[in-house]
Amino acid sequence: MFTADLHNHTVFSYDGTNTPEEIIENAIAHRVDVIGITDHQFSIGGDLREYKARLDACREKYGDKIKVLRGLEIGTRPAPDDLNPRDTDDLDYVLFESLDDTRAMDLADFLEWRRRFRCPCGLAHCDIFRLGERYGVDMLKIMRRSGLFWELNISGNYDYYYDFLTNDKKREAVARSGVKVSVGSDTHWIEEYRFRPIRRANALMRELGCEFAVIGRIR
Ligand SMILES: [Zn+2]
Repeated sequence: MFTADLHNHTVFSYDGTNTPEEIIENAIAHRVDVIGITDHQFSIGGDLREYKARLDACREKYGDKIKVLRGLEIGTRPAPDDLNPRDTDDLDYVLFESLDDTRAMDLADFLEWRRRFRCPCGLAHCDIFRLGERYGVDMLKIMRRSGLFWELNISGNYDYYYDFLTNDKKREAVARSGVKVSVGSDTHWIEEYRFRPIRRANALMRELGCEFAVIGRIR
C-alpha cells in the first residue's frame, strides 16, 4: 500500500534525534514510499543551504528505494523575521505550524504573508475547524482559495487527529472541499515511529478521494 509521510525531524532541528539518513533508512525499513524531511526553520537559521545540500545528497543516495522530499517547518507564533520566502522557492513544500494556537499570528496577516511563498504550502498540526470557529470563517474554503494543503498529524499530540478519524461530518467536509492533504508522523526519534497510524491515515485519505499535496493523486 502506498504510504507517504511528509513530516519528519532530524538533527537539523533542536528537538530531532536522528540524522536525515537514519530517518530515511527507517522509513525504507517500514516500506514508506515518500518521506518528507521538515526541520524547524528556526533551528536551521542561516544554515538553510547546508540543509538543502544534505537532503539533495540523501535524495541521490536513496533515490532507487524511496522518494525523498525537501520540506521545511515554519513557525507562526509569531512569523520568523529571519526568513526570506525566496529561500524556500526550491523546496518541495513548506509546513506552517500551529496556526490554531492562540499565540499564532492573525489569520488575515498569515494569508497575506503566505502569498510570498511559491512552493506548495501546508498547515501542520492545525485544527482548521476550531480555527474557523474562532474567526467565524470557513477554513476549508479559505484554504482551497489560497492553495493551502492540510496535514493530518498522526503523532498523537493533537486531538484533531482522533476527532477526524471518528467524525464523519468533518471527513466529508474535507473530502468535498477539494483541499489537498498530507499525512505526517512528526517523528523526532525513530524508536517512536508510528508506522501503523501513518498507514491508516494514508488509506483513509485515499478512501476519501482526497488529493495528496506535493505527491499528486495516488493510483
Ligand atoms: Zn514538526
